[in-house]
Amino acid sequence: MAEHSVPETLSSPVEVRDADPPFDGDDADIILRSCDNVDFHVHKLFLSRASPFFKAMLSLPTPAHTHGVQPGTSDEVRNGLPVVRMSEDTHILDAALRLCYPPPLPRFDTLETLKAAWRAAAKFDIRGAHEVCAQYLLMFAKQEPERVYALAWTYGAWDVAAIAARETLQQPLLVGPYVEEFNDISGAALFRLLEYQRRCIQAVETLIPDLKTWLDLADIPKPIDARCPAQCPTRETRTRDASPVDVKVWWWTYLSDVVGALKKNPLDLAAASGHLTLVAIERAAACPGCRELSITRAMERFNRRLAVEVESRISHIQLTVP
Ligand SMILES: [Zn+2]
Repeated sequence: MAEHSVPETLSSPVEVRDADPPFDGDDADIILRSCDNVDFHVHKLFLSRASPFFKAMLSLPTPAHTHGVQPGTSDEVRNGLPVVRMSEDTHILDAALRLCYPPPLPRFDTLETLKAAWRAAAKFDIRGAHEVCAQYLLMFAKQEPERVYALAWTYGAWDVAAIAARETLQQPLLVGPYVEEFNDISGAALFRLLEYQRRCIQAVETLIPDLKTWLDLADIPKPIDARCPAQCPTRETRTRDASPVDVKVWWWTYLSDVVGALKKNPLDLAAASGHLTLVAIERAAACPGCRELSITRAMERFNRRLAVEVESRISHIQLTVP
């Protein structure tokens, strides 16, 4: 690679270099030149099969075809091959062409490169590129959910949009970042995201009023028979298998606080519950009756049950897509 060569015609004063393999072979039958003057030696067969755009472009009589830039340079020939000037830069053209060629597929290390390649692939109408790009997009969903959501919506990758929407719950309801990709989506797309987030938060908020529909008595840290003195307060609630039942106020306070924390990030129960669990255990330990219980284990058990319920509620909420 990086071999510098002089074009055969005198009309192009700039230095041109050859692309990386596999686009440097001497068995190619046409050259696509990027806007930053890198020559891709390619095979018409691969391009024509992968892309109706390329098929139409390459079916024009050679060498008098061009692709939109620098009129008058379309009749350039190098090493006996017609040169077609493209408006894409090296990185984008490389990625787009790799999507046309047999594997290995291109690598997208950043969302920026994937985004640019996807745009080119859409322009060239490259078969199968949508699926490949959508798979790559998924890899960025955890780190940059808002951007991924907007891109997925832009290209109609609805499965990816749904997964990204879920990841935006790390910072829901406009606490998350503004990203430039929001410029490319409609108000409807943004509305659907906010609607999804709101429904997920409502599902968390209703954990307490719905207690009797999902929690069993055995999941609550020892509500009834702890030998507590009178100053260890209780309150009445209902569970799936017992109603009414008295539960310890220190546990009820914990439940209320952890639900409050989950509303800010429904995906991370560990973060929401970590400190609060310690506080609950401390409060329990202040009572000689509750102190006799295996509070830590009981709290772990309850948190596991809570995690299952939160996951179940959120996974049942669907993002609305067109
Ligand atoms: Zn007690």
